[in-house]
Amino acid sequence: MTSSPLLAADAVLEKVAAGATWAEGPVWLPRRRAVRFSDIPGNRILEYSEVSGELTVFAEGVGFTNGRTLDLDGNVVECSHGRRAVQRDTAVGPEDEHRPATLVDSFGGLRLNSPNDVVVASDGAIWFTDPSYGIKRAEEGHPGEEEYGDRWVFRFDERDGSLTPAVIDVESPNGLAFSPDESLLYVADSSLSPADQQADTSGRPRGRAIHVYDVVEGRHAKNGRTLADVSPGLPDGIRVDVEGRIWSSSLSGVQVFAPTGERLLDLPVPEKVGNLCFGGEDGTTLYVVATTSLYRIRTTTRDASAGLRGAHSG
Ligand code: MG
Repeated sequence: MTSSPLLAADAVLEKVAAGATWAEGPVWLPRRRAVRFSDIPGNRILEYSEVSGELTVFAEGVGFTNGRTLDLDGNVVECSHGRRAVQRDTAVGPEDEHRPATLVDSFGGLRLNSPNDVVVASDGAIWFTDPSYGIKRAEEGHPGEEEYGDRWVFRFDERDGSLTPAVIDVESPNGLAFSPDESLLYVADSSLSPADQQADTSGRPRGRAIHVYDVVEGRHAKNGRTLADVSPGLPDGIRVDVEGRIWSSSLSGVQVFAPTGERLLDLPVPEKVGNLCFGGEDGTTLYVVATTSLYRIRTTTRDASAGLRGAHSG
């Protein structure tokens, strides 16, 4: 048992489900009381219900979905490697079935690479990362080219349809999250990944840092600097809690960082962690997707954006 002020006094990491190949993209759905997540190589979406305690297949042949979040209306916004798109799925009611609608899939007439993870800001703008794992790894999508020639973080504003590069200096942007007041944007760089190493012979940088930017005028990310290196392994999905702490995936488990970069917690998980989310009835359960399995542990905090979208109002 790991003791920490960030974890409930009697907290124990519990494995609640297994059967994925590479699990990613978890989000808590309050109306279904379930965690929905992607099994990327399985090309399917899984759901763990807190009501039944069962893991079920929510949808199959889903276009290799990856990261997801909730928008301000409580609908799912998710990334699709196969469609090279960010899409909205309104299937958040108890009986609903997957019905994704594409929001954005190109930049200036060029296809996106393979959107990986996504957050929605309080103004409704959708910020997402676009590394190229879904076009590099045949088991995670469809092989293809980097049409705009790089890997960026974009901001998509549905109100005017604009798609704007927000971060262009992170080599392989992966997980992302805002600070509670949205004055900071955190972006995880997973370019230490073997997939990046094999694909690039051009001497491009490789790293495993979480980067932090000042968010200016709600739409620009400026003054980028390194928050912390995540080791062992690399950071994939990240979340920020109400106190502004950054919860990161890593090879060995979950690592939590203060906004200063100081590491506050190193929580071991038996499998390589891909992503995580807060959920449960009161929002304080941390759900961790780790390779084949879904784990959870009780914490003393909740997601910074939970109140924003009524994610825990039932
Ligand atoms: Mg990811």
